[in-house]
Amino acid sequence: MSSSASAKKKVSFLSFIKHSCWTYLQYAATQMSPDRLHQVQQKRLRQFLKTARASSPYYREKFRHIDADCVDLSKYPVTTKAEMMAHFDQVVTDPAVTHATVEEFIADTGNVNQTFQGKYTVSHTSGSQGQPTLIVQNQLVLNLLFAFQMTRGNISYRGARRFLQPILNLWNPTRLAVLISQQGFFPSAWIWQHLPEYMHRYMRFLFLPANDPDLIAKLNAFSPAVLTATPTTLDLLSLKTDQLNLPRMKQAVTWSETLTLKARSRISAAFQAPVMDNYACGECMFMTNGCPTGTGAHVNADWIILEVVDEQNRPVPPGQLGHKVLMTNLANTVQPFIRYEIGDRLVMATEPCGCGNKLPRIETIIGRAADFFWVKSTSGYRPLTAYPFQHAFDYLREVREWQAEQVERNHIIIRLEPIPGATPDLPLARTRLDERLTITGLLHDIQITFEVVPQLTTDAHSAKFRRMISRVGVPADLEPSLQNIAADLEHPQ
Ligand SMILES: [Zn+2]
Repeated sequence: MSSSASAKKKVSFLSFIKHSCWTYLQYAATQMSPDRLHQVQQKRLRQFLKTARASSPYYREKFRHIDADCVDLSKYPVTTKAEMMAHFDQVVTDPAVTHATVEEFIADTGNVNQTFQGKYTVSHTSGSQGQPTLIVQNQLVLNLLFAFQMTRGNISYRGARRFLQPILNLWNPTRLAVLISQQGFFPSAWIWQHLPEYMHRYMRFLFLPANDPDLIAKLNAFSPAVLTATPTTLDLLSLKTDQLNLPRMKQAVTWSETLTLKARSRISAAFQAPVMDNYACGECMFMTNGCPTGTGAHVNADWIILEVVDEQNRPVPPGQLGHKVLMTNLANTVQPFIRYEIGDRLVMATEPCGCGNKLPRIETIIGRAADFFWVKSTSGYRPLTAYPFQHAFDYLREVREWQAEQVERNHIIIRLEPIPGATPDLPLARTRLDERLTITGLLHDIQITFEVVPQLTTDAHSAKFRRMISRVGVPADLEPSLQNIAADLEHPQ
């Protein structure tokens, strides 16, 4: 575990030079004018739609009424997560890839470092957003992910220094420590295990489980320049700065959870380095690279199209909060995602970014529904959002759905609905939730009871499924200073 798990393959000198140049050139899009970027995007979109129609029976049928030359995405229908999974075998463009063969592959955890059918990587999202989504990615997707990390997401690739950086790294490879909080086929830090061999010449790796008892000693001995982990892992680690000695640290990179402003400043102060927060989803891991000077992240818009839209899929302009996002990943030709619905709520920045990266920037990421409970801590009432629950249960694969019901002010019942035939690992669920509640500082204030139910039901009044249900509501004696927070949470727009 504490070294790269990918088998060393010989890379010819010519191939190394070719791939290195290709990687280096990926920086170019950060300096493109909006017009040039649009041209590049449209050219790739045209080719991508052509490929999808030619090789995916699902999209061929779905787009049959649309002119073959049409590159106006707004004319194309949206695809939901449920549709993607219901028609998986028809969506994919390689007939050898099927729902059954992918399920069989991920059932064997020994395959976690292996490629599927020798050429694809596979992962899944959690069941807690409705149902797990299986994701198959081709090599281009991975190459872009790593190339963007090395160039666009690398603080050392700024200004004139970027011309020298690749050569410097050959002599003195970047030391990257990856802390892994969950094991399995999750679109997470594990993806680094699939780093193409030529890139190993530029980097030295340390892979560590986040709960390694000797974590700090191992990190100090390795002395990374880049530390990659979830915000929760880095936030917990930042409490131990007195034991950490990391003089080479240049940047921290966070993934997969919402990074709050408070957590960002704690982590940045603890490691004395900027935090680059990558916003991504399992369906497109190279979606953005963090911004070293501000919040949010820059969209890699030369290879992905993000449409911020309202409930009726109409465009929402920059500066305004959208209801959801439609994602078109121009690189994944094996499982095409075209106007694929993501529940996150985003605000795009209206102004160019001061960091020098000209790619469009997401200013605010609200994440999913801002449901919350008011609970009473020793220092007064505190809002408890859905995030600790979502983060705890998102990657429990045997959990199809969860629901939290606040039955008394500080007593919450968690109901877990397993996927058919599975049994939720309750001790693990509790450990995960305790970790998240520790971060919020509310662990010792709340009593949690777990229940496993065969099927969660919709709300009798609204007929909608609700993850967070409060039987006690907003406290009548809520402090006046919290009234504004309450209003913000209830009306995030
Ligand atoms: Zn920026």
